[in-house]
Amino acid sequence: MTFSIHGLAVARGIAIGRAVLIASSRVDVAHYFIEAPQVETEIARVRAGRNAVVDEIRRLQQSIATMGPKETPHELAALLDVHLMLLQDEELISGVKHWITERLYNAEWALTTQLEVIARQFDEMEDEYLRERKADLEQVVERILRYMKGVASPVAPPSSPRRKTQQDLLLDDTMDVPLVLVAHDLSPADMMQFKQSVFAGFVTDVGGKTSHTAIVARSMDIPAVVGARGASQLVRQDDWIIIDGDAGVVIVDPSAIILAEYGFKQRQGELERTRLSRLRHTPAVTLDGQKIELLANIELPGDAPAAVNAGAVGVGLFRSEFLFMGRQGDLPDEEEQYQAYKLAVEGMQGLPVTIRTVDVGADKPLHAGERDAAHLNPALGLRAIRWSLADPAMFLNQLRAILRAAAHGQINLLIPMLAHASEIRHTMALIDRARAELDNQGVAYGAVKLGAMIEIPAAALTLRIFLKYFDFLSIGTNDLIQYTLAIDRADESVAHLYDPCHPAVLRLVAETIAECNRQGKSVSVCGEMAGDVALTRLLLGLGLRSFSMHPAQILAVKQEVLRADTSRLATWAAEVLQAEDPGKLLAA
Ligand code: PEP
Ligand code: MG
Repeated sequence: MTFSIHGLAVARGIAIGRAVLIASSRVDVAHYFIEAPQVETEIARVRAGRNAVVDEIRRLQQSIATMGPKETPHELAALLDVHLMLLQDEELISGVKHWITERLYNAEWALTTQLEVIARQFDEMEDEYLRERKADLEQVVERILRYMKGVASPVAPPSSPRRKTQQDLLLDDTMDVPLVLVAHDLSPADMMQFKQSVFAGFVTDVGGKTSHTAIVARSMDIPAVVGARGASQLVRQDDWIIIDGDAGVVIVDPSAIILAEYGFKQRQGELERTRLSRLRHTPAVTLDGQKIELLANIELPGDAPAAVNAGAVGVGLFRSEFLFMGRQGDLPDEEEQYQAYKLAVEGMQGLPVTIRTVDVGADKPLHAGERDAAHLNPALGLRAIRWSLADPAMFLNQLRAILRAAAHGQINLLIPMLAHASEIRHTMALIDRARAELDNQGVAYGAVKLGAMIEIPAAALTLRIFLKYFDFLSIGTNDLIQYTLAIDRADESVAHLYDPCHPAVLRLVAETIAECNRQGKSVSVCGEMAGDVALTRLLLGLGLRSFSMHPAQILAVKQEVLRADTSRLATWAAEVLQAEDPGKLLAA
């Protein structure tokens, strides 16, 4: 039966494919594709995990047998029997084998997928006692996963899962069908695992439009919907689904008529892309001759070629924290970072690269699956520059690596989340120290321009201080909106209040642009507003001449630029700023 689930539109386009469910487990589970020759090893790992847990339970049963009834309640022995029975259930192991053999999932992913399949069967049982056995099944699977976690995987997860090869296609025709990922939640680090993978689209139950998970999905340029509440419960493994990334809708089990309609829309989208691709080499100049700088946001050095391909004239935001995430605390050292930044610089073929120092914390935990439970409000806690200043040795590693990479090309160094003059001075002192250390070691490094992100209202209201210290500013509208409106950007339950066109937000953006223009300092917007074509004219009217966005958004924004007349837009933008509901004027 066809039904739809509504969420938030995150990345444009239509995806049609079979659902791959990523079950949410209390144990942090890696998801990656293995190579065909590794199938047997992965199956053996699950078997070994299961056997180890069976042995453990048997040992427990034996020790219980030697105790008296007072020390061991009768229920415990019964429970262990149930666990043993579940562990030996053939459906569990044969299902796991299926996901490993047919889909080439790694062992842990196959196990959690099969858990989800069986758990749903339990949910549908009439008998309440049997229904409640689902919790037992979850517990035994978790024990297997924990055991497997303790035993190193012989197949290291690839840094980016490989693309589907011709061999895969021959291996099994089910691999030929586009796959779309459905999950309760995916951390930004999880998303990076899936970058360049086979998935044609993403759906998550939770998340806001500018959550970092959504940002990575957008950078992958595949249709995505977040905040589609209940999707991971309502969609079943292998269901056909349509993701409408423009409308933020997920259609499950579509009828033939709906499929045909969306197939048509999908082809229209492809034609539009082909049409836009002709603008790649066209300079971004407005009708009245204003040159506009269109830059790219990237997450990894490997994204640089796509940025050049899309016609970006540089990188306006390299989110360096993606080098730090999902490494179980094994942070990249100076040399590794230096190589990564150098690679980004080389990948940009002489164009400037703006590297933002690490911005972890809040919805970008260092490890996938980690939740910052220790802090009540991580978005207001130790994140970004606060984290760096709290660990000077780590920060100095990064600063030295960036300065060294600057010997190979033009690098701008960008600092996130500053609010206080004392933080600025502290940061400047550490940059000076990093230079002095390199001087002492006789290591070559290059000159960098220094920039600050304006993403806390306090910063936007004290521009004078920022402009005294920095060569350029970059407006991080994602956080600026979050902190101005007191809306958690990752929380879909308040997503309707997350408004880039709130008069307070526009005023802070407008004043930052105007002040920089008055003082002759460069300013850009690198938050998601920069890539939103509905806002291009407004930002141009406010005097913005530099936009940084995902490479996939550049051509559509360029098209808006080519049609714009900034002299007219300035008058209109001034009116928009005064409006009670500026968003309505944009729609008009
Ligand atoms: C922003 O806050 O707008 C920004 C660009 O930084 P991030 O999205 O990585 O927090
Ligand atoms: Mg930010």
